[in-house]
Amino acid sequence: MAGKLRPVGSRVPRLTSQPVVLPWEGVYTAEYCGSGTDALALAVGLAMLDRPDVTRPEVIIPAYGCPDLVTAILCQGARPVLVDLKPDTPFMDLHCLVSAITEQTVAVVGVGLLGIPERLESLAGICRKRNLRLIEDSAQCFPPRSVEQVLADFVVLSFGRGKPINLMGGGALLCREPLTSRQRRFLDQVPDRAIHTGFAWQVKRLVFNLLMTRPAYALLEKLPFLGLGKTRFHPHDHATRLTFPLALLHGGLREFDERPLIHSEYEQALSSLEKRGWVLLSTERFSAIGVQPDRPRLRFGVLAPDAGRRKEALKALNDAGIGANGLYEVTLPEIKGMSVLGRSGEYSVAADFASRLVTLPSHEDVTSVDVQRIASILVLFGPR
Ligand SMILES: *Cc1c(COP(=O)(O)O)cnc(C)c1O
Repeated sequence: MAGKLRPVGSRVPRLTSQPVVLPWEGVYTAEYCGSGTDALALAVGLAMLDRPDVTRPEVIIPAYGCPDLVTAILCQGARPVLVDLKPDTPFMDLHCLVSAITEQTVAVVGVGLLGIPERLESLAGICRKRNLRLIEDSAQCFPPRSVEQVLADFVVLSFGRGKPINLMGGGALLCREPLTSRQRRFLDQVPDRAIHTGFAWQVKRLVFNLLMTRPAYALLEKLPFLGLGKTRFHPHDHATRLTFPLALLHGGLREFDERPLIHSEYEQALSSLEKRGWVLLSTERFSAIGVQPDRPRLRFGVLAPDAGRRKEALKALNDAGIGANGLYEVTLPEIKGMSVLGRSGEYSVAADFASRLVTLPSHEDVTSVDVQRIASILVLFGPR
């Protein structure tokens, strides 16, 4: 087919008048926010209010991840503390995590990368013993792990483009009640804005969805000023709350449930790569360490044998019209503008993961033919 398969992102849903049970109903209360970053910033703010004894609050995050993690923490005046990863996984190394905890730590953020939730049981155990709040950043995972088993104090969702449910922006903060009256007041003073889904919104939705098609995406990518897919650090001063019609969220949930699960096809088609020095971020690998990632993936992740092979494989895939990419490409301190993080600390495992990750499209427009083509390209890049 002509054009290019977009790397990530699902179409913006239709509004629906049929109500849907929200997966967090009865477990968490939702506060809708301007973005996932805003939801995370508010979660950090709430965690700080739980620890008034702490004067210079610190929040623990993985050393490889979305730069918005840093933005959200700084926005509340807290300090991000980075933790290296466990080899060949997107998870934090638990020994490094425990050693990073100080008297000033108020929260740990368990980030689900590409749709694979963090090991929240282990993180919750560590947090409980030390009076730390556990925040599940589920911006890339849906449904969040904590709705199956209530593990996190706060859960962050994003409805931005390139996230599991694309409402063209917005996010949600799920809170485990009860909140204290100070926490309630903190949330109530956050400015609120409304999204109206009138005619202009409907037109925007159609245009957005049109731009996701293969011919349109191929054109968009040729416009460098759009900077599609570039990782940037944006400072942020304050969070907002959002009011939008629930019919929109209901539409998103409904369409999400109807999507095919392409990751099982990837697991089969790419299984021979494991003998050729590649690592699949597969269901089997993660169930071995107690994670249940058998849920839709935002992207399907594979680790190349080395950085050089990653670069060659990405070029070959993109030349063949497949929007594969290396996601953030580098660790958080190496992202432009991140000098706030300083250079203290070595995150060699995260750096290795960052240099080898290839993410493959896993949205509703990926076909079995695409998966077979991707597999036939990747097998060409074995060990040297
Ligand atoms: C995208 C993302 C965010 C921020 O969400 P926005 O809605 O884009 O602000 C936070 N955390 C992770 C892990 C993300 O992928």
